Parts: sequence; C-alpha cells; structure tokens
Amino acid sequence: MSTLNQQYEERVRPCIDLIDSLRSLGVEKDLALPAIAVIGDQSSGKSSVLEALSGVALPRGSGIVTRCPLELKMKRNKEGEEWYGYISYEGHEEEIKDPAVVEKKIHDAQNRIAGKGAGISDKLISLEIGSPDVPDLTLIDLPGIARVAVHGQPEDIGEQIKGLIQKFIKKQETISLVVVPCNVDIATTEALKMAQEVDPGGERTLGILTKPDLVDKGTEETVVAVVHNEIIPLKKGYMIVRCRGQKEIKDKMSLSEAIEREKVFFRDNLHFQILFEEGYATIPKLAENLTLELVHHIKASLPRLEEQIEKKLARTQAELDKYGAGPPPDAAERLSFLIDRVTAFTQDAISLTTGEELKFGGRANIFATLRKEFAVWKEIIERSGVTFNWNIEKEVAQYERKYRGRELPGFINYKTFEGMVKEQIKQLEEPAVMKLREVAEIVKKELFMLAKSSLVGLPNLIRTAQMKIEAIRKEKEIEAESMLRTQFKMELIVYTQDSTYSKKLGKRKREAEAAFLNSTLVKTSTSSTASNNDTGATLKEMIKHLKSYYQIAGQRLADQVPMVIRYQMLQESAIELQREMLKMLQEKEKTEALLEEDSSIKTKRVELQKRHKRLSRARILLTDFSMNIYNFSATQQKCKP
Ligand code: GDP
Ligand code: MG
Repeated sequence: MSTLNQQYEERVRPCIDLIDSLRSLGVEKDLALPAIAVIGDQSSGKSSVLEALSGVALPRGSGIVTRCPLELKMKRNKEGEEWYGYISYEGHEEEIKDPAVVEKKIHDAQNRIAGKGAGISDKLISLEIGSPDVPDLTLIDLPGIARVAVHGQPEDIGEQIKGLIQKFIKKQETISLVVVPCNVDIATTEALKMAQEVDPGGERTLGILTKPDLVDKGTEETVVAVVHNEIIPLKKGYMIVRCRGQKEIKDKMSLSEAIEREKVFFRDNLHFQILFEEGYATIPKLAENLTLELVHHIKASLPRLEEQIEKKLARTQAELDKYGAGPPPDAAERLSFLIDRVTAFTQDAISLTTGEELKFGGRANIFATLRKEFAVWKEIIERSGVTFNWNIEKEVAQYERKYRGRELPGFINYKTFEGMVKEQIKQLEEPAVMKLREVAEIVKKELFMLAKSSLVGLPNLIRTAQMKIEAIRKEKEIEAESMLRTQFKMELIVYTQDSTYSKKLGKRKREAEAAFLNSTLVKTSTSSTASNNDTGATLKEMIKHLKSYYQIAGQRLADQVPMVIRYQMLQESAIELQREMLKMLQEKEKTEALLEEDSSIKTKRVELQKRHKRLSRARILLTDFSMNIYNFSATQQKCKP
C-alpha cells in the first residue's frame, strides 16, 4: 500500500496539482482545461455517484435538483489531516467546516444564482473538499436532461439544459461520464446520444451504469454485455456502481456503510459478480479508474495546452501592442511619451499623404481612392465636351442666330470661336471646385481615422489633433479653391503652343474626312434634303476647331486640378499638421490634459496585462512540469537495476 501511495504521490498528484494551479491562476478564462463532466438524464444517479466519490452529501432527489454546474474539486489529504470544504460562486467565497452543511450551502448557492424556482443557470458553483478519503479528482456535475417542463419552468428548459451540457462536453479537454441507470434501455439514453454527437469515436466518453439493484429481472445479462463493451462500444468502456437508494438515505445509512454494502452486493450477485472480479464494479474502483483516466488525459492534453497558451500569449501581446503602453507616471517621462506619440502620429500623417507605409498599418491606401476620384474628374471633362458638341450640332439654327457674324459660310470667326471655348471651359469650374471639396473631405476622414488609431487611448489628444486637422482642411481648401479659380481665369486666355494645336487640328480634319466618306457611302441611295448645307459647312469647321482646342485645354485641366488638390490637401496639409502638432507640444501647461487617458482603454489594457501575466505564469508551470516528468523518468531509469 505504501508503495502504491508513494507512486500516487509522485505521479498522480503533480498532474492534478498542475491543472489545479492553472485553474487557480484563472487561465480557465482563456483556455479550456482538462476536466471530467458528469451527464445523464434526470434522476439517473449523477449526484449519487459524485456523493459516493466525495463522501459528502449533495442535494439530490427527484425532479430537477442540480440547477447550476457544480465543480467538485476533491483533494486527497494525508492520513490524519482534517476535512475541509470551500465553496465559491459569483464572487462569493466561504469556508465550510462541517461536511453535513455542504448540501445546504449548495442549495443556497443555487437559489442565489438561478433563483428560487426551478430555472437553471450556466454560472459555476465551485466546491473544494479536502479529505484523506477522497480521490484526487475534479468533476463537474451538470443538471439532468429533462424531457418536459414542470410548473414554474420555462417551456424550453429541455433545450436550455442541453445547451448547457453541450457547452461542457463539446470541449476536447472534457471527459464525459455518462450516467445510465440499469433499469432503462441504454440505447435510448439521451445523454449517451449527446456524448456520441460531440465524440463520435467515444474517445473521451466513459459510461457508468447505476442502480444495478433495480435492474429488471431477466435483463441482467444485457447489463453485463453493456459493461463488457459489447452493445454500444466506447473506447474508455463502462463501469457499474451501486449507490444509496432513497430508503437507505431515509434510514440514514452512512456513505462508508454504503460502500461496504455495495461491495457485498456485487460480490454476492450471481450476474454481476463477474464484473466485480474483473474490476468493472464499485465506487472505489471507479475512483481509481477515474483518477488514472484523468491523469492520462491531462498528460495527453499537455501539448495542446502548451500550444494554446503560446497562441493566446501571442494574441494578447499583439493586442497589448495595439493599445500601446499608457503614459508613464514620471513627469519627465510623460513629456517624452507625449512627444513620441505625437511624432509617430505626424510621421504617419506624412506617410499617408505621400503614399508611404504606415506604422499603424491596415489602412487602405489613400491614393487608390484619390485615383478613382480623379478619374471621375477626367470623365466629367470628357462628358462635358461631348454634350456641348452635341448641343451645337443639334441647334444649328440657333448657332446662326447666336454666333454667326458677317462672314461667308465656311469661314469661322475667331471671336466666336473664343467665346464658345470660354463658355465651354467655364462649365468645368464648379465641378472642379466640387471635386476639391470631395477630396478634402476624404483626406480629412482618413486623417481623423489615423489620429484615432495612432493616438488610441488619449481622447484629449485625439480631439485636439482632429480639431487641428479640421482647421487645416478649411485653410488649405480655401487656398486650393483660390488656385483653381485662378486657373480657370487663366483658361479664359485661349492659348496653346502652335505646334500642339496644328497637330490636334490636323488629326481632327483627317478624322472628319474619313467620317464624311463613310456617311456619303451609306447615304448615296437616299436623296438627302440638305436644307442647311451652307451653315453646315461653317458649323463643321467650327466643331473641328472647338473639339481640337477643348481636347487640349481638357487635358491641361485633367492634370492641373488634381495637382492643385494634391499639393494643398495632401502635401501642404500634412506638413502644416506636423508643424501645428509640434507647436502644441511647447505649451507645457497643456501636456497633462493631453495625456489624460480613456478609462475604458485603461481598463482594457490592465485586463490584457493581467491575462498576459496569467498566461506567462501558466507557461512556466507547464514547462516546469514537463521538465519534472522528464527528470522523474530519467531518475527512474537510473534506479533500474
Ligand atoms: P441525478 O438527478 O442524476 O443527480 O440523480 P440522483 O443522484 O439525485 O439520484 C436519483 C435517485 O436515485 C435518488 O433517490 C437516489 O437515492 C437513487 N439512486 C441513485 N443510485 C442508486 C442506486 O444505485 N440504487 C438505488 N436503489 N437507488 C439509487
Ligand atoms: Mg443531480
């Protein structure tokens, strides 16, 4: 026995302790830890099994008794050490001195969490028990699967309970103990079906048959076959136990007496004694098996756990980086901190407007947006040219009245030409200014967002930066508008280099000739009435000139307007923003206000820092543990003769 005990202390205890230490670090909030959950239909005997394992009476009986998940942490004390209990839930913690009051305490806790009625809750009640008579195990008791709602229960209670159970058993880290009474048909058990759904291979499902004393006469052999894993095979197999029935409880049979009786029952039962001999029966055997299963399970889960911790740590670190370090407490450091943040921001603003990569990346390239906007501007120019041509061609008569002077048909009047060109170009002025406003708004929004992400956590600084961005936008927009208006004033001077114009006009004439030839070929058969032939000649000539010049001026404006906008709204604005932000830093009395932190960001950062610490400690625990296992097996090897 003592060697068994020693082996136990050396091999089982550290594993369970490891998980308990991880749990007390609170890493359960971050990742799933190995656990054993007890599931089954209502009154299948779940609480009875737990009770027998832990040696303390738990709330049980008929109807829905377990209404919240109950985590039962059992710690095996050394022989002679005193029993202790400890219950905690929803921030409430309490020591329990007497095992006899555990039942009542759990009852109170359930009422506090799930209300006095028959409702359920997914909040966990945690009960820790230390005693020389318990196995080292942590089990979770879950509400039983109910089929119909009773009075005072919500209609969907069945679904609620199933959802709660699924939450626990779907985790890879959970072993499901499926409790099934011997007096029902195991194949129809809801709990077993649920376990099979989340664990089709039955790798982490263990069946427990209860109430063997209530088995229907004649079905005993089926029960034996089930335990022999012949009916619904599970990798982890089945165990069979007998707990106290209602009458035995009434008769105040103690739990230790019950264990004795259980042994006698199995030993003397003609059908079941074989299971007893094979080690598939009784609570003590179950305790032993479960502990071994858990240890095995923990060891198997370690690599995954380590991996998860690494992943979580990296993610937490990345998030922490995003939130940045808060302002340092030291006064001198605070100023440097502010300078660093402001410089990083203004540099990013400049990078944004020059198309360089940002420190606070992830932002869409602003130039892609602007390219689209400027392409639209070019379309406006082209469309305006087309509609103009179309209009004068349509209103030939109007042309005669409005523009033609004393010249003979076919001659075009330069003044008329100039007048028409000017009128045409003028139509582009307002659209150009509109484009400026649109782009100014886009740039402003981008800079606003940059301020938000780059200066995250410092709301006053963000607000100040945004105020400056807005002021600069207004100022630069006015300057840009005035530049654009000047440009349009200059466009009233109808000018381009001779060679440029001749080239365009020549091309246009060739195009017109080709078009003419085409149209006469088509029209030879139909006798055209050609009533406006004379004026038509002048008009055609005029259109050639107008189109040629408009193309040249249009090209000029297609480039010039975007350049003005980019110069003022991007380049100059960013430089001005940098200047303004740095100037602001010199107003020392404002520093403190600018450094004021957003409280929610602060909380979030503190939370992240805590998680980071927690996970780092967990990682150390895991590495130490793996090292110890390694050392342990190494010394064992050495000790071998
Ligand atoms: P739970 O709803 O699954 O937690 O079931 P309980 O543990 O509350 O048990 C339901 C009823 O079955 C109780 O009255 C227990 O006393 C009774 N019971 C549990 N196990 C056995 C057993 O092995 N034999 C007999 N006869 N009754 C049992
Ligand atoms: Mg129960």
